[in-house]
Amino acid sequence: MHSGQKQKIECALYVVATPIGNLRDISLRALDVLMSVDKIAAENTQNTANLLTHYSIAASRLMALHQHNEQAAAEKVIALLSRGRSVALVSDAGTPTISDPGALLVEGVRAAGHRVIPIPGANAALAGLSAAGLSAPHFLFYGFLPNKSAARCRTLQGLATLPYTLIFYEAPHRILECVLDLQNTFGGERQIIFAREITKLFESIHRCTLAEALAWLNDDPNRQRGEFVLLLSGATARQGGLGAETESLLATLLEELPLKQAVQLAVRITGTSRNELYQHALSLKPQA
Ligand code: SAM
Repeated sequence: MHSGQKQKIECALYVVATPIGNLRDISLRALDVLMSVDKIAAENTQNTANLLTHYSIAASRLMALHQHNEQAAAEKVIALLSRGRSVALVSDAGTPTISDPGALLVEGVRAAGHRVIPIPGANAALAGLSAAGLSAPHFLFYGFLPNKSAARCRTLQGLATLPYTLIFYEAPHRILECVLDLQNTFGGERQIIFAREITKLFESIHRCTLAEALAWLNDDPNRQRGEFVLLLSGATARQGGLGAETESLLATLLEELPLKQAVQLAVRITGTSRNELYQHALSLKPQA
């Protein structure tokens, strides 16, 4: 364990995690760094100025680094580091580069031979996972799914047999359609956890089956508001695939028949659920 003395600032890029709601969720080390670096590259300078002001830290060293200027801003940061300066990178909330800008900057800084020092802290996915009560030892952080339903379903299909807890970020205006696609792809049995407004005033963490999820969301429109992490239990052995024989039968039928008929016949021959066969057939032979 390190002694925990005040952070000594070096010529480096510090990747600093900031709160995801509750302003007190920031480390002493993060405050040391933000107080002392020469520049702070922020996704949204106004939001970061508010955070800095809350901690009586001067906001005059801010510069913007977001997805629309990352390349140009990265060049400026690298030039500063080349002159022996220190820079902190922060995003709007949580850990930079996790579904947030900054990875290009980090890559460029490392390629230029400068140090990158992580200052760990809040992250919505891990906070949600820590309170989800899912006992699976492994998880897959996916982040944001595609916005459009067809692309989203294709992506979900690719994740359907993984035995890992799946973690998604989702915007409130897409929460209903996303949950509908989750249910259509994975069936109703899996557990879903809605980790909403973590660390904020209206924090709520609700766990139910996918079959119950839409009704729960619709019961109270407030449940569809705010920021969400969705966590989904992984595939069980039974959900982990159709089995080699069934998959090969379906593939053969699909070579000769239209998708609907191939699925119907496979249901009759194998007794497997229509939905599982249909989803697998779609992954083999996507419909226009
Ligand atoms: N870099 C951030 C992190 O470390 O968690 C994530 C940034 S991403 C652009 C923003 C998404 O994270 C939101 O749309 C939401 O899905 C999730 N998120 C952020 N803060 C949250 C919170 N307090 N409660 C629930 N989800 C949150």
